Amino acid sequence: MITDYSDIIERVLIDEDSLHKKIKQLAQTINTYYADKGTLILVGILKGSVMFMSELAKELKVDLMMDFMIVSSYAENTYSSGNVKILKDLDIDIKDKEVLIVEDIIDTGYTLKKTKENLINRQANDVKIVTLLDKPERREVEIKSDWSGFKIPNEFVVGFGLDYNQMYRNLPYIGVVKRSVYENIED
Ligand code: 5GP
Repeated sequence: MITDYSDIIERVLIDEDSLHKKIKQLAQTINTYYADKGTLILVGILKGSVMFMSELAKELKVDLMMDFMIVSSYAENTYSSGNVKILKDLDIDIKDKEVLIVEDIIDTGYTLKKTKENLINRQANDVKIVTLLDKPERREVEIKSDWSGFKIPNEFVVGFGLDYNQMYRNLPYIGVVKRSVYENIED
């Protein structure tokens, strides 16, 4: 059984404690914003947002419902295609509702731009975005998250919900993946 990720992880970028503190701060801001706005619909983008969404939801003190979408933009590699497809849609009708999209990371911006447009077209009252991580250097389309946890450099990260080929989502921290892992080269 592997418990040592030193072959995969170059370094820890954001430790467990910093993640928990930041999520609490984000929740406070979000609580204040939605305090008098009626039932909130949290829309988690699977699978990467799962850990962030569950931590955040526990800290939210407003009436809310949770739903999930699967939106594909990445294949089995680390690059965005610009094509975004809905693979699993919402169960809840969001017409006239306050919607908060919960995403793990905003990178090129395609996923969130398309997803937000799609939800606005369903006549939600308002659609906002919270992301745990943001890689501003990589942005290709104009889209901003309303709230975000950490700005990070242009490096491929895993952990706390984020994967590499579906692995490492369970790491309790955000770690930078060694380039040799996804470029298939020797260190
Ligand atoms: P975008 O459409 O903004 O380029 O991509 C957003 C999606 O790309 C995220 O939801 C995430 O699944 C994936 N992604 C972008 N950067 C990273 C990264 O550094 N690590 C991992 N694991 N996924 C990433």
